[in-house]
Amino acid sequence: MAAAESDREVPSALCTEFLNFSAKDTASKWLQVTDLYKEVYQHLARYVPKIYCLGPNLNPQSEDLLAQLLLQAPLEWYLCGEDPSTGLAKLEQNNQPSQLCGHVFRVGEPTYSCRECAADPTCVLCMQCFLGSVHKEHRYRMTTSGGGGFCDCGDTEAWKKGPYCQKHEPNISDSCQEDPLAHLSTDMIARCYNVFAIVLKYAVDMLTWDKEDELPPGLEPPDRGDTYYCMLFNDEVHTYEQVIYTLQKAVNCTQKEAVSFATTVDRDGRKSVRFGDFAFCEQAKSVIVRNTSRQSKPLRVQVMHSSVVAHQCFALKALHWLGHVIGYSDALRRILCQVGLERGPEGENSSLVDTLMLCDSKMWKGARNVYHQLFMSSLLMDLKYKKLFAIQFAKARMLITEENLMTTIIRTFVDHLRHRDLQGRFQFERYTAQQAFKFRRVQSLIGDLKYVLISRPTEWSDQLREKFLEGLDTFLELFKCMQGMDPVVRQVGQHIEMEPEWEAAFTLQMKLTHIISMMQEWCATDERVLIEAYKKCLTALTHCHSGFTDGEQPITLSMCGHSVDTIRYCVSQEKVSIHLPVSRLLAGLHVLLSKMEVAYRFPEQLPLSELSPPMLIEHPLRCLVLCAQVHAGMWRRNGFSLVNQIYYYHNVKCRVEMFDKDLIMLQAGASMMDPNHFLMIVLSRFELYHIFSSADCRKSYNRENTNKDVVQQNNTLIEEMLHLIMMVVGERFEAGVGQVEGCDEIKREIIHQLCIRPMAHSELVKALPENENKETGMERVIDCVASFKKPGVTGRGLYELRPECAKQFNLYFHHYSRADQSKAEEAQRKLKRQNGEDMALPPPMLPPFSPLFASLVNILQCDVLLGMLGAVLQWAVEPSGGHWSESMLQRVLHLIGMGLLEEQQQLKNSSEDHDVSFNFTLKISRPGEAPSNTASVLALLENLQNAPHLEVHKDMIRWILKMVASIKTMRELTATTYTVTASGSHGQEEMVCDKDKAERKRKAEMARLRREKIMAQMSEMQRHFINENKELFKQSLEELYASASTSTSLEHSPTSSDAALVCVGPRRSRPREKRQVVTCILCQEEQEIRADSKAMVLAAFVQRSTVMSKNRKRPPHDPEHYDPLFMHPDLSFGTHTGSCGHIMHSHCWQRYFEAVQAKEQRRQQRLRVHTSYDVGNGEFLCPLCECLSNTVIPLLPGTKGSNSCEQPGLGQWLKISGQQIKAMHSAHRKLQPVGVDAVEETEEQCPAPENFRIDYTPMSPYSSTIKEMLTTFGTATYKVGLKVHPNEQDPRVPIMCWGSCAYTIQSIERLLVDEEKPLFGSLPCRQDDCLSSLARFGSACWTAASQPSVQGHYIRLVAALIPDPQVETSPCILDIDMLHLLVSVVLSYGSVHSQDSSGLSVDAVQLHFFHLITVAHMVQMLLTSGPEEVTMEQESGGAEREEEEDICALYNTLRTHLGSSLPEVASGWHLWRCVKTGILPYLRGAALFFHHLNGVPTPPELHAICPGQWEVLCGYLSLPSNLLQLYHSQKELLEPLLYGWCSHPGVRQTLQGGGVLVSFPRESNSLIDLPDDYSALINQASSFTCPKSGGDKSRAPTLCLVCGSMLCSQSYCCQTELDGEDVGACTAHTFACGAGVGIFLRVRESQVLFLSGKTKGCFYAPPYLDDYGETDQGLRRGNPLHLCRQRYRKIQKLWRQHSVTEEIGHAQEANQTLVGIDWQHL
Ligand SMILES: [Zn+2]
Ligand SMILES: [Zn+2]
Ligand SMILES: [Zn+2]
Ligand SMILES: [Zn+2]
Ligand SMILES: [Zn+2]
Ligand SMILES: [Zn+2]
Ligand SMILES: [Zn+2]
Repeated sequence: MAAAESDREVPSALCTEFLNFSAKDTASKWLQVTDLYKEVYQHLARYVPKIYCLGPNLNPQSEDLLAQLLLQAPLEWYLCGEDPSTGLAKLEQNNQPSQLCGHVFRVGEPTYSCRECAADPTCVLCMQCFLGSVHKEHRYRMTTSGGGGFCDCGDTEAWKKGPYCQKHEPNISDSCQEDPLAHLSTDMIARCYNVFAIVLKYAVDMLTWDKEDELPPGLEPPDRGDTYYCMLFNDEVHTYEQVIYTLQKAVNCTQKEAVSFATTVDRDGRKSVRFGDFAFCEQAKSVIVRNTSRQSKPLRVQVMHSSVVAHQCFALKALHWLGHVIGYSDALRRILCQVGLERGPEGENSSLVDTLMLCDSKMWKGARNVYHQLFMSSLLMDLKYKKLFAIQFAKARMLITEENLMTTIIRTFVDHLRHRDLQGRFQFERYTAQQAFKFRRVQSLIGDLKYVLISRPTEWSDQLREKFLEGLDTFLELFKCMQGMDPVVRQVGQHIEMEPEWEAAFTLQMKLTHIISMMQEWCATDERVLIEAYKKCLTALTHCHSGFTDGEQPITLSMCGHSVDTIRYCVSQEKVSIHLPVSRLLAGLHVLLSKMEVAYRFPEQLPLSELSPPMLIEHPLRCLVLCAQVHAGMWRRNGFSLVNQIYYYHNVKCRVEMFDKDLIMLQAGASMMDPNHFLMIVLSRFELYHIFSSADCRKSYNRENTNKDVVQQNNTLIEEMLHLIMMVVGERFEAGVGQVEGCDEIKREIIHQLCIRPMAHSELVKALPENENKETGMERVIDCVASFKKPGVTGRGLYELRPECAKQFNLYFHHYSRADQSKAEEAQRKLKRQNGEDMALPPPMLPPFSPLFASLVNILQCDVLLGMLGAVLQWAVEPSGGHWSESMLQRVLHLIGMGLLEEQQQLKNSSEDHDVSFNFTLKISRPGEAPSNTASVLALLENLQNAPHLEVHKDMIRWILKMVASIKTMRELTATTYTVTASGSHGQEEMVCDKDKAERKRKAEMARLRREKIMAQMSEMQRHFINENKELFKQSLEELYASASTSTSLEHSPTSSDAALVCVGPRRSRPREKRQVVTCILCQEEQEIRADSKAMVLAAFVQRSTVMSKNRKRPPHDPEHYDPLFMHPDLSFGTHTGSCGHIMHSHCWQRYFEAVQAKEQRRQQRLRVHTSYDVGNGEFLCPLCECLSNTVIPLLPGTKGSNSCEQPGLGQWLKISGQQIKAMHSAHRKLQPVGVDAVEETEEQCPAPENFRIDYTPMSPYSSTIKEMLTTFGTATYKVGLKVHPNEQDPRVPIMCWGSCAYTIQSIERLLVDEEKPLFGSLPCRQDDCLSSLARFGSACWTAASQPSVQGHYIRLVAALIPDPQVETSPCILDIDMLHLLVSVVLSYGSVHSQDSSGLSVDAVQLHFFHLITVAHMVQMLLTSGPEEVTMEQESGGAEREEEEDICALYNTLRTHLGSSLPEVASGWHLWRCVKTGILPYLRGAALFFHHLNGVPTPPELHAICPGQWEVLCGYLSLPSNLLQLYHSQKELLEPLLYGWCSHPGVRQTLQGGGVLVSFPRESNSLIDLPDDYSALINQASSFTCPKSGGDKSRAPTLCLVCGSMLCSQSYCCQTELDGEDVGACTAHTFACGAGVGIFLRVRESQVLFLSGKTKGCFYAPPYLDDYGETDQGLRRGNPLHLCRQRYRKIQKLWRQHSVTEEIGHAQEANQTLVGIDWQHL
């Protein structure tokens, strides 16, 4: 709500009335009256409209206050019969707390369910109860609550085991069974009853009230004014944006107000958007309706009288009040339950609770929430009423029996789907997008139904049977509307014009899947119900297909001496539908008849004689043929909608109640038919009958067809048909079809998944069907079929198939897609090869059929099948053209294998005297009859065994022939009553020979493939590269990758010279004289780095950084006015420069960049697509490695060593330097416009020292291209570092470059420490190159800037060290980061030195500065060292003694300057420790800096981590190893400086707590600590409320991993403006916390979010894994998650390395959809 609105004044006339009101008197009056109901209503009618809703802006505080005084207080007085404060306290004393936890979940709160013990998945525990329960040791699932549920702890019905947590464990000694009402007087009970009845009735009346201008009788206000509200309601159709836009137009409000309105509507379900007279509100309404009715259904708006709104407000308040009052006493709670559930005058379903629930969907969200909460705190907390209430609130079979809920729900459901075709089937194409919300409601009805069915009955009563079957009837009505819906007709000629709607029907099917399965499970628990259900279902199917032969000609088919009557029907010509729920339900029930043995025990009760097998199979068969034809490409013109339908038909989400059941129906039908008849009908539906039925089909197929497409189609159809036959005979893993246990089916599914490849837990779960509990049953069996392999730092844990399970592999497993099948085949053949086995993949052993399906095996040996097998084999013997396929042969071989295995099994299991009638071997040995006299199947196989074109199938044919031989032996042996063992492996020797040959061949093949792959990769990379650089690229590519090396300038191999290496000062070691030659990655030309040659540049990425910040509270600087010269030691904002190390000519780079720019412009005009980089902002990808870059650094030659003549000592140099500075001061003053600083004129002109040519302007030594690049990089660093527009004239440009150099060095120094790497020798080349170029650039950048301004910086920098009266406002030394100072002063000195011709060497000056700053840093540390920690006094050796004494002396000097601001210190030991550890990072940074600046080789001792580093480091830096000598040897000179530093007012102020005090060493920053258990985070997030919308739950709570702030992300409420754009909370936070770069954890999603700037972002795998070694992004699976520290460290490293933006770039390049996301709204 807009905050600007002023409080409303209560009219004074009312005030007196209110003041005179007495609750006590009113209550005693009520005690006298006869009609209390009327009296209370009158009271409400009078006061409610005077308290509530008096103006445009509600004022909840004063309203609630008045309501308490005038409305609730009298009720409480009446209830208690005395002062409520005493009365309620008395009640509370006798209160028995409930044993149910009943904790109501907040949105996003974690909930736990035990997979082993929960009665159903809706039974959940709150975190507290869970942690105190036995289930935390069980297999549990964790989810986040959508809000509104409650904890089931203590409910014995909800848990099979361990219903109580420790806290809610009942105390046996307590008399908990006691009636809570026993403590109350009858008077009290009566009064309580009265009040509750009236108040609850009032609340229900008002909340279900739907008139806008009237009130229920008795509530009409005494005087009503013309005051109305225009009330806007929530709907599921309009978007936030639409609502906001419309409101701005309709009620003329600002965008902010509109957002606030829309947010409230979304949250509460309604919001008044205007207050005024009727006409005024009506006008707003009409504008809203008009504006929203165009595209869709208009927004719902009502103009409501203020009194109606007022009463509704109070009704909500009254419910709250009830909840509050019953909180005092279980007795009151019991009474409220009675009141609520008492039947009203209208009889059934008329209690107040019923009324509320029936109106649930009509109520607005806010009201619903309030009454749900009341229910939860009353009805569900009372053990007695919880059960009673369950009847009303939907649970279990009681609902079905007593409420007939199933029927009601389905009826309502069917009513919602109104559009039907002529046959009464649903027509979803009539459902437009706007009506989709209605569909959503339909879906929630299905949810209710699921809830009703979730607990299966253990005992059936007659009444339950009756109601269930009644429900089933309604259900069948629904199914009849679905049977045959969305039919398709094959499109010939032209492509369909519009893809037909198919999703709605499939959504419905998917939602119903579990319901259908659950209904079958119910039927499976009672024989009588099953029999009745079967009959009903059969009747329904008969009804659906009453016209099944209508208009379809009867025909007779004959083949192989058999004939059958059927109809003429072509799937390819007529309507066919994929939706057959009635048939499929019948199939499911049919299996149950077999499984429960009902079919054998009560055959007389079953309508088996009414079954018409051809009718049963007809529609499922059509559906399967449709799939085959789609595979064969016959339905291409029907577009994607059909392809999608076929996909879902087989998909794991639908197949259980679609494809699987169709197959079962075919099995059921075929088991009741003559197998020859069945096959002829199948052939006919596949439209293959004509091919196989002709007498000489073995020949004619070859001749007849010449059309290539038709031949191809027929080939595929034959393959599909053979596969179907395999499935009909071979799929026996459904309990009831085959003789299997429940878990055999799931085992087989898992085995076949793992035959494709090893899989992660979640992949397996996805491939298996889930039941309504979201369980796959996998855990029970996985360990017997697979072994688990743990994951490493990347990747995930995997299950691998146990080797002994591989023999159960079936290549034609019915749930394989074609892709799965070929992958599995490849994998299994490879396995066989590795194990040295033959290549045959024969069918596996199958379990026997159940008796009801037993006759199916005869399909294998029937004449029609043998005829077909013979035909295919014959075609294989004499292949011609495309009229035959290897897949066909492979399937035929598989079928023959199945036949042989079947025979072998039967022989094994047969008892001695029993004859095995299944004689497949005999049938295949018999030649065809005259006249054709065709060869037998066996003969054909023997023939094929040697066919050269069938090499691949040889092993299989050999396997078959061996089987035949073995079976023959078995038969002979059985004849002589011997037991037979299965034949295994004969002919080992010949196979070994073959194997060797095959192995050699395979190796050769592998080598060839590898070569090809590498070649392909190469050419792909080259092609990509050429495309990117077409304009530039002319040279041959061959050597490109070989020679794409980086700089060769800096080798780390230490020089061989014996002298100790020194990197700074007059004694510094000379760099090896070496020409630096580098190669341009773009033109491949070599180039020497020289000041006067063409510029070479390094691709670089400059970014702002807070990674090292010690003060995240510091607000970002004002970019325009910020003075960056001194970095504060808190390092709060820095500029980091990184590089991929790739070098180009500056002109090559420029041309490349221009080409990229041009391409982007064209692309943006054309497609408006985004890229991962922002060309407008100077970004590009490195042309070689695609690393994100935004500028280039020029490569510069190293400085030549100066000839070291005698150099001045410190004292002398200080003098010279002072003179130089004075000279510069006066020179600069001259430059300034006259009159600006007239006062200064009084000062004497200072003569310049000898040899200091103040007027001399040096020539830049650099070539024009280098000069240009100096400006380019300087400007880029300035622009990015300060977040300003580029301005090369700004004097701050060089400062930013020096700063970036220092910051980058510091950041790398930290990384080396964190990674425990040595200072030198461990950095990747690219970082070395980057540091060198940065340092040398820094020393040269003054040449591109105005010399006076650089000298001005120099003067100010020096003044911070050597106090200079002419420089005002120098920072105190506690506010200066010393490495930044060192780098800046050294790099800026060049501008001064260029005017000096005295022979003073740069080296000497560098060393003086370095020593001075080192002393300053030591002083800085002594000032901040803090009080001595109590440690054991350490004895130290002689060397250390000296240092301890020295440091004490220095410290005491400081104390003489600062007095009591510094604590007294007893020993030097502590101080020396502090200084020595504190100064180390600075010294290491300085070593890195001077090494790269001066190009001095590094001492080998620093290439490893070993003792004695300190001395080596000091030596390298030209420092005494006792640093205090720096001070003590120059005491007289330094004393004044010391005094100057200490007397700066800032020092005393900071020490007394007036500033940010940083202590040294600065520890590396880490990402925040995360809890081990992910649910702790979820819990934390769930109690987080949006900081802007007053206690609301945040939808996307997001944790900043850098600082630990929780944010309300991705939501309008927390959008803020950043640089004139609305951005989400994360982007806004990123700006302050991470200078534009952010690392977050989206808690609800369990996902890491990387953000960079406003436009870049990506998601990253979270560091939390489940027990299966997998992340759960989106928290969909609910497995418990635990922190993986290695993965978290990896994320931290990315951050510390400043690689987050680069990571985003790579992710976006790899996945273009990431580019389109509006990251700034997160
Ligand atoms: Zn609980
Ligand atoms: Zn509990
Ligand atoms: Zn459990
Ligand atoms: Zn080049
Ligand atoms: Zn690169
Ligand atoms: Zn943060
Ligand atoms: Zn928010």
